[in-house]
Amino acid sequence: MNRKRTTRGYSGRRPVPIISYVLGAAFLLVAVIFSVKGFLRSSAEPSTIPSQNVTAPMPSLTPSPSGVESPDPAASDPTPTATTPTTAPVASPTPVGNISYEVKTMKQDDIYQGKLILINANHPYRFFDFENFVCLYNYKTDSYKVGDYDLLIAEDAIAPLNRMLNDFYYNTGVNAVLATSGHRTYEYQQYLFDKEVALVGPEEAALWVAQPGASEHHSGLAIDFAVYYDSGEYHDYDGSGDFAWINENCHKYGYIVRYKPDKQHITGIAYEPWHFRYLGVPHATKVTELELCYEEYIDYLRDYSYDSPLSIETDEGEVYKAYYCEGLNVYVPKNIDYEISGNNIDGFIVTYKAS
Ligand SMILES: [Zn+2]
Repeated sequence: MNRKRTTRGYSGRRPVPIISYVLGAAFLLVAVIFSVKGFLRSSAEPSTIPSQNVTAPMPSLTPSPSGVESPDPAASDPTPTATTPTTAPVASPTPVGNISYEVKTMKQDDIYQGKLILINANHPYRFFDFENFVCLYNYKTDSYKVGDYDLLIAEDAIAPLNRMLNDFYYNTGVNAVLATSGHRTYEYQQYLFDKEVALVGPEEAALWVAQPGASEHHSGLAIDFAVYYDSGEYHDYDGSGDFAWINENCHKYGYIVRYKPDKQHITGIAYEPWHFRYLGVPHATKVTELELCYEEYIDYLRDYSYDSPLSIETDEGEVYKAYYCEGLNVYVPKNIDYEISGNNIDGFIVTYKAS
């Protein structure tokens, strides 16, 4: 604006040679070009610099599924991760009873990890490089069978699985549980999904096989069973007869039957009595007691905060407290062991033993 006014002022006082107009116009053009370049550079910088600071950025959600929605807020807005200092000015939590709390600042990636993450079509699994899967066959007991030497499972889930199937064998004398599927790669899930689509069509397939990225098996926290007797008899696992013991008691070992028949309208997956998800004893107990599916339970936890936590009593009579924290600043109890897990959506769940 100023420049225009000045030019107009000159031309009003005295005649100006044409060459001056030409030079003036050229000068204006150069000035405009430089200011536009400067603007472009300055507007590009904020989006490139923070992304270098982000450790394991969201775009590493690989491979990019073509048919699967990937809610990825961080990819378009890197600021939450990049600008969160560990000394964020957060109000100090007030002590509750005789427990003091402090703030632990998490990273954006942490939201997508931990044994309590919800995994479904709307909240796909994020693949990280450092997953801790182990070969189940090397750890199995004689109480059950493993269908594949390469079957991998999350390390935390093994000991509880062994305890559950040892107790099942002890109670029933049946050692015919066959673990058929643990951790799956994205590519393998794609293969399974495509195979099912070819067999029954896309709509029916979606009821039985999760789309790649949307399967709990990616996490190594889910395991499928079949039935295989020493006689050679083999059939699907339906959780009936002797095997009902497992489906009724699995929460005591930290597992839930993830897809119940009355929750299909929420999970999008048909009844799968053979699919067990590991959550740890407290949360598996509460999910079962409340008769919720895991989608509902993750929502349910939102009502509980550190100063008003959910109380969970296990079948063994142990009492746990659990609560939800939105965002990256998580309130954790001081001087008490606790577990923290992302919910794979927008925050964290803290769990500690109260007795
Ligand atoms: Zn399964």
